[in-house]
Amino acid sequence: MSNTKNIVTIDGPSGVGKSTVSRKVAGALGYTYIDTGAMYRAVGLFLDRLGVDVGKPEDLSRCLGDLRLDLRPPVEELGDVCVLLNDEDISDIIRTPEAAMVASRISAIPIVREKLTEMQRLLGVRGNVVAEGRDIGTVVFPAARHKFFLDAEPGERARRRVAQLRERGVEVDEGEVLAMTLERDQNDTEREISPLRQAEDALRIDSTNITIEEVVTKILQKISEKTG
Ligand code: C5P
Repeated sequence: MSNTKNIVTIDGPSGVGKSTVSRKVAGALGYTYIDTGAMYRAVGLFLDRLGVDVGKPEDLSRCLGDLRLDLRPPVEELGDVCVLLNDEDISDIIRTPEAAMVASRISAIPIVREKLTEMQRLLGVRGNVVAEGRDIGTVVFPAARHKFFLDAEPGERARRRVAQLRERGVEVDEGEVLAMTLERDQNDTEREISPLRQAEDALRIDSTNITIEEVVTKILQKISEKTG
């Protein structure tokens, strides 16, 4: 794999602040940010709309052949990545808790993971990327030089998710968000293929009691220590 030196991987459970941290780290380094969660959310929406029986690998494979996914830089600085599904801008509709649950379910399907892993590797082929997700340091870019694993207590992650959704005008119940966070944690850590886990060579950062800015500073410090 080429240019693995210039790949930063940031994995961790949902609501831990990966997206904000990754965008800021990418901005500071002048790297491209790859939001792999958005890709799973987009495929979830795609399959959901088609009403595909995900238990039938041939049907699934045929449908995935028609999938065209395009990730564009955010319109606003530090905004969400712009996601085009077969030319339709789906950036906003994939950011709901329901879309996250659908993504979590379809992300356990091997053929979906194979397809997205391949796309993610292509996006990273030239290096200079910050990629965030669940299996980036373990499966997608195992040879990346800079690997981080973010964690925080579930209650704190649910609170952050609620604040983020409210900022976007999505009104949600904190108890429901916590329940969904725990369900996604379980789906993501217990699935057979590419489960969420920390890569052995990743630095774990618990952000329960520190700010996003402090996490970003820590990551940038580590990267600069390694690169000299
Ligand atoms: O990161 P985000 O919350 O947008 O991810 C949505 C879902 O997509 C996760 O709950 C997870 O199931 C799945 N996902 C994954 N592998 C990734 C990124 C996301 O399985 N690399």
